[in-house]
Amino acid sequence: MGSKVKTKMLKKPAKKKKTKIHIDSALCGADGKIDPRDCAKCLKACDPAVFIMHPALDLKFKDKYDPQRWTISPQWGSLCTRCLKCVEVCPENAITVKW
Ligand code: SF4
Ligand code: SF4
Repeated sequence: MGSKVKTKMLKKPAKKKKTKIHIDSALCGADGKIDPRDCAKCLKACDPAVFIMHPALDLKFKDKYDPQRWTISPQWGSLCTRCLKCVEVCPENAITVKW
């Protein structure tokens, strides 16, 4: 007689929704009126250091990184704790954080 093996259906853990962080470059960064080097409030406010500031990438030019045009990117979005401090401190309302 074969032994009966009961298989238990394991519940899949609920997936945590991915956090989407967006910076409007028309307000801050390469195309914006604010040069992030003069502000950097979001960088200072973010405890897990999600953002990086770097020269803007422009594929139109041979030298893709223009040292005169800087921008902010949410490089490590998975570290975001959804505290919304960056949204609160941004003087241009350039940042949106959604999940
Ligand atoms: S919501 Fe908080 S943790 Fe997330 S990017 Fe903004 S400041 Fe950083
Ligand atoms: S706080 Fe806003 S304006 Fe200041 S650097 Fe960050 S995104 Fe730009």
